[in-house]
Formats: sequence, C-alpha cells, structure tokens
Amino acid sequence: MRSVYTKVTDSMNFFEGNDPVELAKTYGTPLYVCNERILRSRCRDLKHLVTYPNFVVDYSAKANSNLAFLQIVRSEGLEVDAMSPGEIYVEKMAGFAPKEIFYICNNVSEEEMQYAIDEDVIVSVDSVSQLEMFGRLAPGHDVAVRFNPGVGAGHHEKVVTAGKKTKFGVDPEFIPQVKEILKKYDLHLIGINQHIGSLFMTGDAFVKSIDSLLEIAAQFPDLDFIDMGGGFGIPYKKEDGEAPLDLKNLGEALDKKLFEFAEKYGKMIKFRIEPGRYISAESNVLLGQVHSIKHNHDKKFVGCDIGFQVLIRPAMYDSYHGIEIYRPDETKQADETAETAALAELVTVVGNICESGDILAKDRLLPPIKEGDILGVLDAGAYGFTMSSNYNNRLRPAEILIRENGDVVLTRRREKLEDLVKDLIPLDL
Ligand SMILES: *Cc1c(COP(=O)(O)O)cnc(C)c1O
Repeated sequence: MRSVYTKVTDSMNFFEGNDPVELAKTYGTPLYVCNERILRSRCRDLKHLVTYPNFVVDYSAKANSNLAFLQIVRSEGLEVDAMSPGEIYVEKMAGFAPKEIFYICNNVSEEEMQYAIDEDVIVSVDSVSQLEMFGRLAPGHDVAVRFNPGVGAGHHEKVVTAGKKTKFGVDPEFIPQVKEILKKYDLHLIGINQHIGSLFMTGDAFVKSIDSLLEIAAQFPDLDFIDMGGGFGIPYKKEDGEAPLDLKNLGEALDKKLFEFAEKYGKMIKFRIEPGRYISAESNVLLGQVHSIKHNHDKKFVGCDIGFQVLIRPAMYDSYHGIEIYRPDETKQADETAETAALAELVTVVGNICESGDILAKDRLLPPIKEGDILGVLDAGAYGFTMSSNYNNRLRPAEILIRENGDVVLTRRREKLEDLVKDLIPLDL
C-alpha cells in the first residue's frame, strides 16, 4: 500500500499492521473493519466513568449489534439495552443473561411485550398506556418506566429524544396515573430511565437533565436503579483536531450528584448509563473502493461503492465522517509526483445508488484521489451496519474484526444474491 492520507488510523494504529488495501482485496468492499483493542478501551473508559460503586454500563446495541462485537462487550463486563425482540435475540446469543438485558420499548404490540416478558428481561415502558398493557400481561411483575424530563439534547433534531417536542417517555405530570396503575396490577417499579438525545460533546445538558430525573426518582421510594441514558459523543472531525468528550470532568460532576442522591435516598441505589455511539463508533472503519472520477459542470465527483444503503448517516443527518485514502501499489499514476499528491482539492464523494442524495462527503478537501483507491470512512462503528439496507437490491457488506494480536477474522459474511430473494414467493402463472 502507498500511504496517501492515513493520519487518523496511523495515529491509533487502527489496522494493527494489516494493510487496508489487502483487506479490501481479500474480503471485498464495502467492508466494515472493527478493531477489538479500541472497542475494549471504549468499554473501559465508561466503566470507570465514576467512582460511585453501584454503577452499570448498558451498551445500547442498536448502534452496532454484530454478534462478535456483543461478545466482546460482554467480556468487558457491560450489560446491554435492547429496543426490539431482534436485539434481545442476538444479545442472548452473545451470552447475556436475561437480567443483563434492559428492554426499552416504544409503542409495541402485545405480542412483542409478551415476548420480552417470556424472555424474562427487564422491561421499561414508555407511556401510561403501555404500562397498563404490561400490567394486564404480567401482573405482579417488576417493571421500569421511561420518563421525559423535559430537557433534550443532540446533534440533529432527529436524535433529540427528550424535551417537549419528542414522542419519548412519560411526562412527569402523569406520575399519579403511573402510581395508580402500579397499584392496580401490583407491579413493582424497579427503575426509572431517560435518554435525552444523542451525541453531546460537553456533559452540561446531560448532568443538568439528571436533576429532573432525580426529582422524579425521589417520588418512588423503592427503586433498584436509575438509568441516566446514553448520548455520549465522539469527535467526528479528528483530522481537524476535535477534542474527545471530557470524561474526567463529566465523571466528577456525575459522581457528586450520585453520592448526594444516594445519601438522601437512604441507599446506594444502582445508577446506569446506556451509551451506544461512544462504545462503538470509533472501533470501525468502513472500507470502499473508488470506481469512477468525473467532472460534472463545476463539481468533481469521486464515485465509490459506499452508497447510503451501506452508511446512511451523511444522507440522513448531514453527518460528517472523516475520509482516508489508501492506494494499491500497482495503481497507474504517470502524472503523480510527491507535490501533486500533497495538493488538496475540493471533491464530492458519492456512492452507487440511484439517488442524488447519495452523498458520503460534500465539497470535501482531500488529496487527489484516483480510480482504484481504497477509501476509509472513519468512525463508522455506530449506526453504520445496523442502519444499512438492501436498497437498490444491493448486498449488505461483510464485517471483519482485527483481534488484539493483529489477526483478522470474518464476523459477518457478505450477503449473496440468493439472500435477496430467499423470502420471496413467486406467483404460479
Ligand atoms: C439510541 C439510544 C441510546 C444510545 O444512544 P447513543 O447516542 O448511541 O449513546 C440509549 N438509550 C436509548 C433509549 C436509545 O434509544
């Protein structure tokens, strides 16, 4: 491989001595590449966020629910959130015990609620009516309730999940109704939870939102846990030196609140957080290959095989992902000198989907890219594969894992054309 633009992955030894061009050749592109060492270190960062002793990190699996990934998270001593029966299913497969799975559901059917009850996981309901449904299905059981403290935060309107305008959680105004239903069905409220939104880069809104949650908690004297939610951000603009979340500051501010509350509450109640992105985003680089470069009117387009069916965040949330360039040795480049390679140019990197919104990076300053180059999309481990689709009848990519000793293993096979049609039923014409 010729290093063209590899600053970020070099700085963290992301490929552990493997050549991304060779990985792309061996496994094909697009390809999600996960680094085990980085994943483990992100788990440990949050496990040690506070000194408060009764503290649990629930990894929120909707960010990345690869089986091998979940097995690693489990081996780090984390528990998990689930948002659907499918997540419960794969989490059990990864070895999580039912009581290590926190099912945070939203507008679910009776069948789905029953599934969670039968699987014996901890259930959190999201409205007074869903609490009533839970009570009917499982009188006498333990249950948790998600509240909406009235404060939200996040990087985009679509990921703010609390506050006055969102669909989530129970408005604290309805606490009397919650108490009534708990009594009616002899339910035991074991916990309350919230999740104010995704991707905060300073802990202020998070710490502030805890106050309202603790006020709610104080109205229920017999809780086992308080779940403060996820949303811990990561720096997506690493090339520009964006700083990571200051966990030390956040941890200290949290610690103060947790100890204070425990003192008032009269027991060392369990506190949980439920981060998804922080644990998973930085552990993955998504590799793709450049197949066509062209000028269209005033713009230069770099066309690659990473369409929004593979990584939808840029198209859906206008998200920024850093892009690196790795070049196969044999790439023909008569015109290339050290100087031209150092010249950056403004390009728009696009995928292979028939939609004009299929844009991975708009007007991005990058060193000159050539056909055949391998691109590395940074921080692709959260809401990457899990939000991928078969749009345009394209195959979902493979995933590989770089072990701590540098070995590479396949953790998900690339789909095959037969997978696309396996559930179709032809007419008998
Ligand atoms: C999505 C989600 C999370 C995780 O959010 P991140 O921003 O990835 O940390 C946590 N809790 C709930 C309820 C969620 O819906």
